[in-house]
Amino acid sequence: MSVAHHETSLEEIPQMVFQARVAQKTWASKTVKQRAEIILNAREHILNNLDEIAALISSENGKPSTEAIVHDILPVLELMTAYCKRAPKLLEDKPLSLRIMKHKKSYLHYWPVGVVAVIAPWNFPFSIPFGESILALLSGNAVILKPSEVTPKIGLKIGEILDAAGLPRHLFQIVLGTGVHGAKIIQSGVNKVFFTGSVSTGKKVMAAASDRLTPVILELGGKDPMIVLSDADLDFATSAALWGGFANSGQVCASIERIIVHESIHDKFVSKLNEKIARLNQTDDQSSLLKNFGRITFEKQKDVYSSQLQEVAQTAAAKISCGGTFSPDRKKLDPTVVIGNEGARTSIERLRIYNEETFGPVVAVTTFKSIEEAVEKANHSPYGLLASVISEDIHLAESVARQIEAGTVLINDVLYTHGLAETPWGGVKDTGFGRVHSDLGLYEFVNVRHIHKDRFAALRFKPLWWFPYTGHQLKMFRYFMEFMYRRTLSKRLSALPHMLAELVQMIKNEPRI
Ligand code: NAD
Repeated sequence: MSVAHHETSLEEIPQMVFQARVAQKTWASKTVKQRAEIILNAREHILNNLDEIAALISSENGKPSTEAIVHDILPVLELMTAYCKRAPKLLEDKPLSLRIMKHKKSYLHYWPVGVVAVIAPWNFPFSIPFGESILALLSGNAVILKPSEVTPKIGLKIGEILDAAGLPRHLFQIVLGTGVHGAKIIQSGVNKVFFTGSVSTGKKVMAAASDRLTPVILELGGKDPMIVLSDADLDFATSAALWGGFANSGQVCASIERIIVHESIHDKFVSKLNEKIARLNQTDDQSSLLKNFGRITFEKQKDVYSSQLQEVAQTAAAKISCGGTFSPDRKKLDPTVVIGNEGARTSIERLRIYNEETFGPVVAVTTFKSIEEAVEKANHSPYGLLASVISEDIHLAESVARQIEAGTVLINDVLYTHGLAETPWGGVKDTGFGRVHSDLGLYEFVNVRHIHKDRFAALRFKPLWWFPYTGHQLKMFRYFMEFMYRRTLSKRLSALPHMLAELVQMIKNEPRI
């Protein structure tokens, strides 16, 4: 791995992609198991240096130590473990079963896409880019990683870990810099782009990639709903909302930002949630292991929610029921709950705080009367990443879940499944497309080649549809279709002798050229 400790010069980037391409050729010739050995060395290295890595994540990103360890590091270890085991089998040739042409054999052969770009955000600066890099490397690719400019040191740490694990030189390279650098990587001929970030940047990435028809995976924003049905256990539901809305200070693409609660329990729900917020340890002591709530990572994001909250302050449609104040140094916003005003709870739905991604510690609460209305409200969003349904009635919750337009719906749970290795992550609508993690995510890193051959060499003959086109040939195919595709058996069977007769005539009198 080559590391630049400063912003990478734009001129260097095409050369880096070229070096990565050279290194990738040798890497691709190794077996998946050989590649997995190196990933498992990296796993060991992480465990040996856990506290140092967690401290770096915590200091550069601002999240509490528990979140650095549980949200960022643990999922990487899990993904490494699961896919070092699964990938060798998943990437083996896959036989296809053919209904016709039984004398032929078809199979799928997976081959790496080549050099992939991983362009990452700052909110999970370790787990997002590292997770994607693991699956990319296991499947035989080289990686050009561009960490967020907000968290460059964590990006460099990933490189350091892979270096220590014995990854060949130039196979994993890091470009430090801003959007200009991201754009330059895309222009430099990478074979696929794995982009995680905002919708507006995602659109630029896709436009830039279209120049060379480079495929892209887009993991973009969310405005994720949590539906709380009338029979929900309020203690459980409010704890779920608390963690789902405020973990990582709400700076999660899958944070709960909209709570759609049955009107009969709205007031109790909100007061219980506010009560629990008051119990969070909000110390500013970065080293405190008991800290629950981190600082705002990216200053500019604050402008988004400041202006959304300003709109709330200026309208009669909603009010702040809890929080809403910044710390004196403006590095933290208290966990904030915004609700519709009494008598007009749902009027909050007109406001930006309810409709636009906040990406901060704010949840907006509205109400519903019927299940249909709850589903309609959950789906009324340009985004579709994750949703939660909370209910004691699992069948009902499941039927609601199956109507929600999202990549993931969790029943009686929130937020966390990016941390699982085997479950796919990704969205619909403006949240983007493609999947990371899971077997689907692994297959995003390979091209598929279909190989087709004779089952036995002795059975090779010129196919019946080759030239010349002749009368018996045409009739034979017509009877063939009758025989193969008619619904009734008697009709099918009656076509058989005709088909065979035409076939014999064809073979005798109309040899293929
Ligand atoms: P961002 O779009 O500002 O930046 C993401 C990355 O793209 C950064 O590395 C940035 O330098 C780079 N970039 C910027 N302009 C570029 C360009 N023109 N070409 C190529 N790269 C460019 O996003 P952010 O502020 O870092 O992250 C927050 C956003 O990410 C939120 O919208 C959040 O919902 C989303 N997100 C989504 C997921 C998911 O899995 N769906 C996960 C985490 C974050």
